[in-house]
Amino acid sequence: MRIRFAGVRGSWPRTAPAFARYGGDTTCLLVEPREGPPLFIDAGTGITAAAEGLPTAGGELLLLLTHVHHDHLQGLPSWGPLYEPGRRLTVAAPGFVPAEAAVRRLLSPPLWPLDLDVVGASVSFRTLPGEPASDAPFAWGGLAVRHLALPHPGGCAAYRLDEAGGGSFVFATDLEWGAWDDAGRRAFARFCREPRIADALIMDGQFTEGEIAARRGWGHSSLGECAAAARAGGVGRLLTTHHSPERDDAAMAAVETALAGLLPGAAAARQGQVLEL
Ligand SMILES: [Zn+2]
Ligand SMILES: [Zn+2]
Repeated sequence: MRIRFAGVRGSWPRTAPAFARYGGDTTCLLVEPREGPPLFIDAGTGITAAAEGLPTAGGELLLLLTHVHHDHLQGLPSWGPLYEPGRRLTVAAPGFVPAEAAVRRLLSPPLWPLDLDVVGASVSFRTLPGEPASDAPFAWGGLAVRHLALPHPGGCAAYRLDEAGGGSFVFATDLEWGAWDDAGRRAFARFCREPRIADALIMDGQFTEGEIAARRGWGHSSLGECAAAARAGGVGRLLTTHHSPERDDAAMAAVETALAGLLPGAAAARQGQVLEL
């Protein structure tokens, strides 16, 4: 599968030139499996441009939502596929994520001039069974999709994607590692290790070690906590995401240096970066 980081910024978007290298759009991943239609994870502002280049004539797309905080939804009203007649969109999330209610509210007056009945695409909603974790994987083309509930204000889902005969990764944005007890951390380690050790962990690393103490309860993790999570899960490749919107490219370079010291090969994801697994 091919994973494109369409938005890696946390909380709110940044458009200033000083943020251009790592990118200023909020959370969105585009996953293109070897077989079957593409899927998106989260609809932050990065989703607006992420569908450019995809075939526009009909076809199915899946949007998985980790949760409905607006930095993960705010790109949806301006997402091209929503306005394509014949396009079939499935929005999916576990039952503990109020995806349908939030999307219907966002895409209706007075917050937006159009509602789902008139946008063009046919939109359906799917609840993924299992709380706090998948009862069984959800199949999308050649991908098996699993989820795990994360500690975050209001709740959030991590996703794990495994491609038949191919790669696998865990996407854990908006996760407060410090709010988990030992049982929670063990469940996360299992999520990374089963059915086999994931090839990559993409995790919320919004804060530095110096910042996190004053931000407990905000729902995010530090760089050191990301390294600890990757070690617990046995995952060799760590990419941090949900970068602080207050950290420009120069500050992000310091984050990369810190990450390299915490775990060999660890890096901060950049908008536009592509991962082949
Ligand atoms: Zn967020
Ligand atoms: Zn959030």
